[in-house]
Amino acid sequence: MPLTHNEAPAFVNRFTRELPADKIEDNYCRQVQGAAYSRVKPARTSNPELLSLNEELACELGLQSLLDDKAALAKVLSGNTLLPGMDPFAMVYGGHQFGNWAGQLGDGRAINLGEISTAKNKHLTLQLKGAGGTPYSRHADGRAVLRSSLREYLCSEAMFHLGVPTTRALSLVSTGDKVVRDMFYDGNPRAEPGAIVCRVAPSFVRFGNFELPASRGDNDLLRRLLDFVVVTDREDLSERVRLAGSDSSRTDVYLDWFQQVCRLTQSMIVHWMRVGFVHGVMNTDNMSVLGLTIDYGPYGWIDDYNPDWTPNTTDAANRRYRFGNQPAIARWNLYQLANAIYPIVQDAESLQSILDKLPSEYDVEFSAMMSQKLGFQHPVNCPAALIEALKKLLCLQPTDMTLFFRLLSEFKPEDAHSNVHKIVNAAFYENKQAQPSIAQAYQDWEALYRRCLLSEPALHAQRKSMMNSVNPAYVPRNYLAQQAIDAAEAGDIHVFTKLLNVLEQPYHQQLSADAYAGSKRPEWAVNKAGCSMLSCSS
Ligand code: AMP
Ligand code: MG
Repeated sequence: MPLTHNEAPAFVNRFTRELPADKIEDNYCRQVQGAAYSRVKPARTSNPELLSLNEELACELGLQSLLDDKAALAKVLSGNTLLPGMDPFAMVYGGHQFGNWAGQLGDGRAINLGEISTAKNKHLTLQLKGAGGTPYSRHADGRAVLRSSLREYLCSEAMFHLGVPTTRALSLVSTGDKVVRDMFYDGNPRAEPGAIVCRVAPSFVRFGNFELPASRGDNDLLRRLLDFVVVTDREDLSERVRLAGSDSSRTDVYLDWFQQVCRLTQSMIVHWMRVGFVHGVMNTDNMSVLGLTIDYGPYGWIDDYNPDWTPNTTDAANRRYRFGNQPAIARWNLYQLANAIYPIVQDAESLQSILDKLPSEYDVEFSAMMSQKLGFQHPVNCPAALIEALKKLLCLQPTDMTLFFRLLSEFKPEDAHSNVHKIVNAAFYENKQAQPSIAQAYQDWEALYRRCLLSEPALHAQRKSMMNSVNPAYVPRNYLAQQAIDAAEAGDIHVFTKLLNVLEQPYHQQLSADAYAGSKRPEWAVNKAGCSMLSCSS
């Protein structure tokens, strides 16, 4: 390993330093009580190869000196080599899965390598996904396949560049090992190429980290976790928590923290609704207390606007995690978090009052976001009726959400000939003559839209540029990701790299990309596995 101690990034590892560790260090599956994590070493892989590296993020993390030696880097980013200062561990947490309490879950195939204090004084944790079994792997192997790893890398980076709060991807490494998966749980397992993503976030703490000790009545651990996140995630609160003595004097601090978690979570959902992202598995163990999009599994992107759509075949029956239900599920999850921290906060009334305000706070933020998508400078000029009517309009015929909003910026309210229905024509999936009732609905909506827009002084060019800064031209459509996967599995990573490059500037029209990334989903992708239906198998 060429790196010397002086060149290594500064690992500070507050989680392992300050929270109680599992006393057992052997790596076998078990229930872990009274601890926040277990120390565990990543497994060896036979032939780690770097398929993609986020150099900008690597530099931010202080890994510059490693960049020249890609083979050494692949070993670090697959867990085969540990850098000085790394202290690998798996977190223990629980969670509600599909609405039911699932007990202990934990990092079954995620291993945190350590927390770096960056030159910009940020704290970022490196976490390998798919680096082998941990005490929380239950009956699974702790590995990940190339297709799901590539999907995580692609989507988390796309989300970052779209301005959506998210964990990030530092690297994608193929392991050289095969991993057996039954992709659709239908008795057809196959050996797939294994891979590891190194993801990065200020913290990977989930709602479920609090739910598990709460479910076990372990108030000591619960309090320590709560104090830890307040101090580490909220610099502005850390002094208050240090000064506060008893639990009761800390209550306000905890409430402030919880309120912020609510705010961040709802903001994240507003972003999801803005860009047409469906997470697919909003279990409480997949909810970050920093309001980051986390755990990219059977997620999907809305092609034709449909609030009832879910990409997750495991959720096909109840559609709990469908696009339009995400705000309600986020609230449901925040209730679980409130219940979990109640034994320490001890103020049910205040927790309830924070929760009670969630729907109206969400509505305000959602409306402001929609008003921007529609090109309004001031949300007050965009009435709720216009937004509600638009939601209905988009459902009248299969309409590509991304294209619709991008095209809509061509509408000129001051020009009597400017016609919304014509302008957005390329967003329609069925290229047939519109039914008169649909044409009429468009006319009615356009009349209201025109009137509302004309109440604002903005010039067309100004409005268009504002709309195009919130309405992406490119999102990682499901079929695009699948094309990148098919090529990568055949040994060609360039399709992925090219797509990633486009998605790094999602609001900027790129003529060379339009032919494949800027148009709506092709017909062949409608029922193709991976393009419209995904399972949790990864
Ligand atoms: P997920 O649905 O990916 O959020 O995973 C739910 C739980 O199952 C988490 O505790 C994961 O760490 C665990 N898990 C998922 N896949 C695997 C795997 N291949 N090996 C071990 N644990 C896994
Ligand atoms: Mg998860």
